[in-house]
Amino acid sequence: MRLMIFSDIHGNLEALQEVCKDSSTRNVHRSIFLGDLVGYGPYPNECIELVRNLKNCRCLAGNHDVATLWETSPYGMSKAAKEAILWTMDQLSPENKAYLSSLPDRLDLGEMTFVHANPYNPKGWRYVMDRKYALRSFAATRSRIVFIGHSHRPLIISKNHWLKVSIETIVGDIKSAVNDSRRRIINCGSVGQPRDDDPRACYLIYDTRKQTIHFHRVGYDVQKTVQAIQNANLPPVLGRRIVKGT
Ligand code: ZN
Repeated sequence: MRLMIFSDIHGNLEALQEVCKDSSTRNVHRSIFLGDLVGYGPYPNECIELVRNLKNCRCLAGNHDVATLWETSPYGMSKAAKEAILWTMDQLSPENKAYLSSLPDRLDLGEMTFVHANPYNPKGWRYVMDRKYALRSFAATRSRIVFIGHSHRPLIISKNHWLKVSIETIVGDIKSAVNDSRRRIINCGSVGQPRDDDPRACYLIYDTRKQTIHFHRVGYDVQKTVQAIQNANLPPVLGRRIVKGT
């Protein structure tokens, strides 16, 4: 099976459309979206509707998704994030709010676990980027591979039997073999707001038969999204971030 895994669209329709176009040429059988359909970006309803209508796609909730429902307070977020959440609350249709509220926070499939932030406390939203939180995450599941998003930085964390952890930052289009016995936490990066200094949208395809993870980077019309952010009167810093990929 070829499984597409993507995360953190954040209302960026141009980026999402290009990712869908790219993945449609790569023989994907199923896809799993790891959360944050909305927040930051100017097209929350359109992004929800596009993902809802994808065939064979399962979706999880992210912290921005639940913040638009007041399940968590947006007032704990950065200023720009909070302003975008308050704006998104006003934009969302009742159907799309109901859809966001229906999303689960964790999915287990065979030897894989999927969460937005981490598997030990999915709605605590702590980032997993170092050894300490990686070990806590491995302890929370028996799965061989845990797929995460949330930090917007593509990453592979591997652990051998002796609690030795190695962390590999992913740069560009990279294919990585996962055919040994090590357990892994894999961050698929972000579609709509990458933060690894590469503004191109990021997603991955896991080939379960060949045991390979392929990260794909996809360019899109960033200026079009910047213009839409301006037209919506969203904080201008959100446009600057997607231009730089930070
Ligand atoms: Zn996010």
